Amino acid sequence: MEELLDPGLGQVRVFLRHDDNKPRKLRYNLGHARLLTFGGAYSNHIRAVAEAGARHGIETIGVIRGEEHLPLNPSLARAAACGMTLTYLDRASYRRKHTEELQAELRARWGEDVVILPEGGSNAAAVRGCAELPGEIDGDIDGDYDVICCPVGTGGTLAGLSAGLAAGRRALGFAVLKGGGFLREEVARLQREAYGRTWPNWSIELGYHFGGYARSTPALDAFVERHPVERIYVAKMLYGIVDLARRGVLAPGTRVVAVVTGQPSTPVDACGAPTGFDSGEPR
Ligand SMILES: *Cc1c(COP(=O)(O)O)cnc(C)c1O
Repeated sequence: MEELLDPGLGQVRVFLRHDDNKPRKLRYNLGHARLLTFGGAYSNHIRAVAEAGARHGIETIGVIRGEEHLPLNPSLARAAACGMTLTYLDRASYRRKHTEELQAELRARWGEDVVILPEGGSNAAAVRGCAELPGEIDGDIDGDYDVICCPVGTGGTLAGLSAGLAAGRRALGFAVLKGGGFLREEVARLQREAYGRTWPNWSIELGYHFGGYARSTPALDAFVERHPVERIYVAKMLYGIVDLARRGVLAPGTRVVAVVTGQPSTPVDACGAPTGFDSGEPR
C-alpha cells in the first residue's frame, strides 16, 4: 500500500488506502425504483447518486440547496447527464429538509413511493456498506495496523469503519466542518440505527477544520503543495495525522491506515459519459 512520507511523522507510519466512500455508502441503498436526495451545488453525494442511478436503472431526483444557476456547474451537469432530475430549494426550506413536514411536501410533489436519502447519504444502509472496508484492507497491508483514519462530513463513513474493525484497533475521524461537536452524537446514532448498538473504539478530532467546510488556511495550502490530495476532506485528515504524530498523540511506532476518500479534482466532461461509467448510456 502506498505510504505517506512526511518528516513530521517521525516513527509513525501512514498507509494510504484509496476508497471512494460515496458509492460504497450507496451500495445497499440501490434496491429502490426512485431515490430522492439533497446536496449543495458541488456535492459529491449528488453526483454519486446520479451515477449509481444511471448504472442501476433507478430514477433519481436531486434537491439542490439555493437557486438554480445556468449554465449548470460541471458537477450538476454531470448529474443531469446521468438522468437525474434537478430541483432547487431555498436556503430556509433546505435547512428543514430532514423534517417530516418538508419530506411530506416532497412526497406530495415527487410521489409517495420515492425513497428519501439524507444529505451526504448517511443512513443505516450506508453504515453497513462502509463497515465492509476494514475487512477488505486486511491482506492488502504488509503487517498489522493500529488505527484507521477517515475524514468526517456527516459521520456515516466513520460509523461504519468503527463497526467493521477487528478488536484491538481504533477508528479516528477528522471533522472537516467547524462546530462538529454534534458529530459525536450523530456517529453513535448512526451505529444504533444500523446495528442497535454503539462501539467504544472510535473518536473524532474537531481541531482540523481550517475555518470550516471547504475553507482553507495558508498552512493547509502549504501542506497541499507538498502532498497534492483532494482538499476539502483528504488534506485535512492527512494534515491532522501528521500533526498528531508530531505532538506524540499518535505514539512512535503506531501504524495508521488513512482512507483516501477523494481525488484531486479533475475537469469533467459534462456532456459525455462520465469516467468509470460502465453502461455508456446515461439516461
Ligand atoms: C462525503 C465525503 C466524506 C465524508 O463522509 P461522511 O460519511 O459524510 O462523513 C469524506 N471524503 C469525501 C471525499 C467525501 O466526498
